[in-house]
Amino acid sequence: MTDCLFCKIAAGEIPAAKVYEDDEVLAFKDIAPKAPVHVLIIPKKHLASIAEAAPEDAALLGKMQLLARKLAEDLGIAAGGFRVVTNSGPNSGQEVAHLHYHLLGGEQLGDIV
Ligand code: AMP
Ligand code: ZN
Repeated sequence: MTDCLFCKIAAGEIPAAKVYEDDEVLAFKDIAPKAPVHVLIIPKKHLASIAEAAPEDAALLGKMQLLARKLAEDLGIAAGGFRVVTNSGPNSGQEVAHLHYHLLGGEQLGDIV
């Protein structure tokens, strides 16, 4: 989508602190981290949120979750515990309308659920 911030990051048009990239997914550091480790995992394909995901996206979503697990290990937060969360729509406070999983860890996280 032309006017989407994360599509532009995925296309390399806007810089980001990348921690992983392949042909389908990208992970980069959140610009305003809410924890010592705060990484965003996005599909390169534009989906507005999890609410737009279809059965054909099952493998892509699974890949994103397994990447969260792998990055948690690589970034040293797996042993202490971490959180993977995605916002969808106005009531969640979603700010960027391109699907992203937040990977958070490195300290005791506040309860959200
Ligand atoms: P959400 O509220 O779930 O849509 O989260 C959007 C996240 O994107 C926030 O945590 C922002 O800090 C983050 N963010 C916004 N712009 C950028 C950017 N240019 N690079 C990295 N992270 C960003
Ligand atoms: Zn997009």
